[in-house]
Amino acid sequence: MFNLPISYEPPVYRPPSEGPSLLFQVTIGCSNNLCTYCDMYRSKSYRVRPIEEIKRDIHLCANSLVPGDKIFLCDGDALGAPMSVLEETLKTIQEVYPNCRRVGIYATAENILNKTENELKLLNKLGLGIAYLGLESGDDKVLHMIVKGNTAAEMREASLKIKRCGFKLSTIAMLGVGGQKHSENHIEGTAKLLSETCPDFFSFLTTFSVPGTPYHTMIERGLIKPLTSKMLFKEMHDILENSTFDLNPVIFRANHVSNQHPLGGTLSRDKSAIVHQLKEWIAHTPEGVFPPRPHQM
Ligand code: SF4
Repeated sequence: MFNLPISYEPPVYRPPSEGPSLLFQVTIGCSNNLCTYCDMYRSKSYRVRPIEEIKRDIHLCANSLVPGDKIFLCDGDALGAPMSVLEETLKTIQEVYPNCRRVGIYATAENILNKTENELKLLNKLGLGIAYLGLESGDDKVLHMIVKGNTAAEMREASLKIKRCGFKLSTIAMLGVGGQKHSENHIEGTAKLLSETCPDFFSFLTTFSVPGTPYHTMIERGLIKPLTSKMLFKEMHDILENSTFDLNPVIFRANHVSNQHPLGGTLSRDKSAIVHQLKEWIAHTPEGVFPPRPHQM
């Protein structure tokens, strides 16, 4: 472990697969900050950090020999930063971390659609290699209910656009996010959108309501009925069963702390084994039982 010579404005989040990456905050908070289930950046007002501060952080880490073979740019949707800031950040990384293998970033569909293909291609050329997109659901009713800020059509367009521009796309969907009422639409829309976009990486999180969020209030008022463990397994099963991954192999992971059992593989190669495992879990899970809330949440 290295003692970092820089400090972060907390809280700081990154995708599980970016655990070993060196983090730099390009933006603070999230430019949307409205998703009803999310409390990650509610304590922060969104802003883009001055480029001098970002460059100073990068130089301080490099001068202290902090390894940077993988780098992740925070916070919630750093791809929303202006091109001048992103270009300068990536050029500085290339200059002081010439061996950096990949730079990753969180992106919303809005961020992607607001940049031109030439701009995204330029960022990719400067080393920005992977974008993590919180799709959550491929169903418009669910997206509207959780105030995601984008429609399924925009999610599709953004996913295909970022892939066309050379990025690896990592898509995240949320099990149970539509509650019992919207589970069928959520399955259908999400399977369709995944099939149409074939992300390079795909993962599931399980929805747990966080006290203080509008989503939690809706559950308390009975407006959203959470899914039982059996229903969550069925949702995962049905989404995967109804998806076809023909464009490219998809690395699939459902190993987030919120998921009841870890599961993973390459789709479509391992699809039948994964679906079989889910059938087993569905068969052996009693009715009416809810998943335990993970300690880390
Ligand atoms: S876009 Fe992401 S970080 Fe921002 S509020 Fe929604 S879920 Fe949270």
